[in-house]
Amino acid sequence: MSHKHPVRTIAIDGPAGAGKSTLGLGLARHLGFLYFDTGVTYRAVALAVLRRGIAPEDEAAVSALAEGLHIEVLPPRPDDDLPYLVHLDGQDVTHALRSPEVDAVVSIVAAFPRVRRAMVAQQRRIASGRQAVVVGRDIGTVVMPDADLKIYLDASLEARAARRHLELTQRNVASRYSDVLEGLRQRDRLDSSRADSPLRPAHDAVILDSTELSAEETLAQALALVEARNAALAPHQSAP
Ligand code: C5P
Repeated sequence: MSHKHPVRTIAIDGPAGAGKSTLGLGLARHLGFLYFDTGVTYRAVALAVLRRGIAPEDEAAVSALAEGLHIEVLPPRPDDDLPYLVHLDGQDVTHALRSPEVDAVVSIVAAFPRVRRAMVAQQRRIASGRQAVVVGRDIGTVVMPDADLKIYLDASLEARAARRHLELTQRNVASRYSDVLEGLRQRDRLDSSRADSPLRPAHDAVILDSTELSAEETLAQALALVEARNAALAPHQSAP
């Protein structure tokens, strides 16, 4: 990667529950960048599929539906504690995207190449020309191969399941740890084994393992990476 400007785009990839959203939001707030979680685009497809009563395995029907959707990511309302709002064909679906029903089918529809092509186009449109922290599975490899900094955030399956379970409990969504663990294992398998854009670190990604780190420690390490990159890039000013 060679660029002569300070870091403007940061890609964060990794498995479900590794802490990508927490890290991405923290970085975006610190740097004043847009925070964009690309998982919402695949979740929007899954939601539309469920609402229309289409079978998630019906690749042709799901792909055609995905190609006709319009997704927008907007700043939150001042009285809202959400980090962003997601509009699907003009309707606010931010909360609906986080349901267990969407969790259960999102990785099935996200594996279809036509769905991915359509969503990558929407993701590039949403992020284009902005200073952004973009979070997903294939940002460093496919969506933004030229990102100024690429972080691959990993953590053990058990640590990720414990975090996801806590998050659901805090949102008053009833769940069992064993079900969450099994759901994550299933999604890992689907995300890593799909033929189109499988989950894997980009060759130039920095791998950060958050299993033993708190959210604050993970953010501190990532900010140090940004600073190191900016310092390396700063033009050597000669004294006037
Ligand atoms: O990150 P999140 O859990 O919201 O993502 C939901 C699903 O969307 C993932 O399990 C994965 O199947 C898919 N996804 C993807 N590529 C991305 C972001 C999400 O395939 N860039």
